[in-house]
Amino acid sequence: PPMGSDASKSGVLADILSRERATGFQDKTVIGGLDRFVQRWSDELAPLLGEITSYSILTPRQRERWAASALDRLSGLPASDVEGGKSTRVTASRPQRRSLSKEDGLDRLPRVGAQTIARLKRMGLERVGDLIYHFPNRHNDFANVTKVSQLRPGEQHTIVVTVWEASGTATGRRRKSTQAVLGDETGNVRAVWFNQPWVARELRPGTEVVISGKVGVFRGQPVFESPEHELLEGQRELLHTGRLVPVYPSTERLTQRTLRRTVKRALDACLDQLVDFLPDELRRRTGLMHLQEAVVQAHYPESEQTWNAARRRLAFDELLLMQLAILQRKRAWQEEGRGPVIEVDRSAVRKFLGSLDFELTAAQIRSLDEILEDLPRAAPMGRLLQGDVGSGKTVVAVAAKLAAVIGGYQTALMAPTEILAEQHFINVSGLLAGSGGPSEGEYTISHEVPSLGRPVTVGLLLGSLPKRAKEEMHEKIALGEIDIVIGTHALIQAGVDIPRLGLVVVDEQHRFGVMQRGALRDKGERPHLLAMSATPIPRSLALTLYGDLDISVIDELPAGRLPIRTRWVEASRREAAYEFVRKQVATGRQAFIVCPLVEESEAIQSRAAVKEHDRLSTAVFPDLSLGLLHGRMSLGEKERVMEMFKGGEIDVLISTPVVEVGIDVPNATVMLIDGADRFGLAQLHQFRGRVGRGAHQSYCLLLTDAAGGDARERLKIVERVGDGFRLAEEDLRLRGPGDRMGTRQSGLPDLRMARVTDQDILRLARREAAKILAADPGFHREEHRPLGEAFRAYSADLTDEAS
Ligand code: ADP
Ligand code: MG
Repeated sequence: PPMGSDASKSGVLADILSRERATGFQDKTVIGGLDRFVQRWSDELAPLLGEITSYSILTPRQRERWAASALDRLSGLPASDVEGGKSTRVTASRPQRRSLSKEDGLDRLPRVGAQTIARLKRMGLERVGDLIYHFPNRHNDFANVTKVSQLRPGEQHTIVVTVWEASGTATGRRRKSTQAVLGDETGNVRAVWFNQPWVARELRPGTEVVISGKVGVFRGQPVFESPEHELLEGQRELLHTGRLVPVYPSTERLTQRTLRRTVKRALDACLDQLVDFLPDELRRRTGLMHLQEAVVQAHYPESEQTWNAARRRLAFDELLLMQLAILQRKRAWQEEGRGPVIEVDRSAVRKFLGSLDFELTAAQIRSLDEILEDLPRAAPMGRLLQGDVGSGKTVVAVAAKLAAVIGGYQTALMAPTEILAEQHFINVSGLLAGSGGPSEGEYTISHEVPSLGRPVTVGLLLGSLPKRAKEEMHEKIALGEIDIVIGTHALIQAGVDIPRLGLVVVDEQHRFGVMQRGALRDKGERPHLLAMSATPIPRSLALTLYGDLDISVIDELPAGRLPIRTRWVEASRREAAYEFVRKQVATGRQAFIVCPLVEESEAIQSRAAVKEHDRLSTAVFPDLSLGLLHGRMSLGEKERVMEMFKGGEIDVLISTPVVEVGIDVPNATVMLIDGADRFGLAQLHQFRGRVGRGAHQSYCLLLTDAAGGDARERLKIVERVGDGFRLAEEDLRLRGPGDRMGTRQSGLPDLRMARVTDQDILRLARREAAKILAADPGFHREEHRPLGEAFRAYSADLTDEAS
């Protein structure tokens, strides 16, 4: 339904004038006065207005006369049928001034300024067609605006109110919230935003705002807790249109008004160019909405039902394309590639396992077996090793690497951060140490492995190594002198030649994009690939995101591990939390303290950690040995701190969130997370996984100042649920509808409409994708051609993003 059309503007104007008449021509209907409205839409309205130059300077009587004649003129126009939101027939919109293609650049759009174009580009919107697919995050329900006196606790409401008063209040030691008193002619209501002091600056007294959210109760009074808010300024006319108004993802400088208008123009001009690429048969069989209809309903839904149907269709498209890409990649990988055939010396592997001071769990043995069975196969392995934090993935990977080395190949281990790569370097060496005494170089360690008849050499290759050392390492690797190369993804950048690369292990796989994985696989001959992930994603979702990989799951923790006790501690008991840390240290244990998340930047985050370290060293734990770890430290410094912590010289390690992954210090038993409400469930679980790695009872303390509704629920769940996979399910449930799939983790393009909870659509998409590929892999059939084209465009985007 074209909102920007002349007809609709005239309809709104007529509406306004009627209201003016009803209220005695006070010029109060439009914020800022009717003149502002008229000016804004002067193009559309000029021919209808007659001789008026300014409404505001007229007397009420003059206004009345003018309004009467204007209403006459307006009524001569076609009625505003489309603005009411009932019609969905968009294809038949008014003729275009000039024909516009969805492939055109944004500069071809009429009446869109250069600045707006630049801002849209910064959001990744380049072509007119991109705007059509720029879907709203939500809609303001202007059709159902509630009066304040009618608010019902527990329900979702939208109100249009004036701000009486708004202020930032300190509610805790550091945290601020915004409190506001808002009202309409029927009464007043309070709203609170936790941790969002900036909201107070936006809500200047006298401003009109739309508030949307669930109504809670505080001291018997209704209150909005962290509701959505939007300044009404300049969009009063939307109120008269009585519809679901789109609220688009935007950046600071780009107003909703501008976005709405621009997107609308694109829709009006190019919607009919959208080709529905789903075969008719499929669409009918699955009951999915037609593409053009779905796009319109996604922007301007007639009702919640039509919006749901539209979202279902668009989510299906996204998931179908994704599944096609994944399944095709799997086929290509299996068909083209020949992997190194690595003969596995089982008795040597057994000997290595026997040298460890623990026994593998059944799940570890099963996973290792699956890997060892893949190595001698000509088809290169593509396997995801999934296991909760602390489940012992590292040792499984080390055994696999050793098997490959003994079989005559080199192996590489890639970690997401330098800190983690170093940790692996130390760990691998530690695990191999049982096999024979080490001899150390600066960035290499060699271990005698009896069954090999020569030492196994482990080398550390990091982007930050001195130039000389890096060159030397490259040379040794190229000569085949390094058996196990450990490093960050600097490894996969050009220049590293690993001539006999047989197995690649990628740790914390979720930090790597799928395409990066692809790039690695294409280096020379195709090595076997083992990706490790502790991200507790449910299996169904893992299958989607990593659908081109086989999966091994370590679903049990080593025996004798005591479940970690997790407690949510409110700020008022901060001292008690510190006291607890002190007691644990007194019994010989160690502790982590993670600093609150400061969002701005790594530099600011690091500074905050330095300050916190100073404060804790002087005011809280002057008698203990404290260490500091943050992203701005040099590699050498980090290494020293980690070694001291591992060696027990540091009692308490103060850290920015860099300790999130991989760090393994079994004697540490306390993880104190300050500002825990700022972190997501998965992240909290990762932090918690840093303790409970030894035989001692471990604890995780979630320290928070004020925690609002959502955060409160999150923390309660972490407190209650210790298992990563169950936690992930809870996370999905909690985030529920409205959350987008965590595709950043997967390296696939953003899913705009699909959600993590869309398991049914996902299954459908996967099934249909497999069907299509089985029947017509090249998309040659008539009915598959449009889909083939859409898929090629999608794949091209994938490649672009990877480069
Ligand atoms: P993650 O799966 O999180 O990477 P790690 O591989 O770092 O876990 O293992 C966590 C700790 O458990 C390490 O100290 C490791 O040596 C130890 N570990 C691994 N497997 C076992 C086992 N079967 N029994 C006892 N301890 C084990
Ligand atoms: Mg690990």
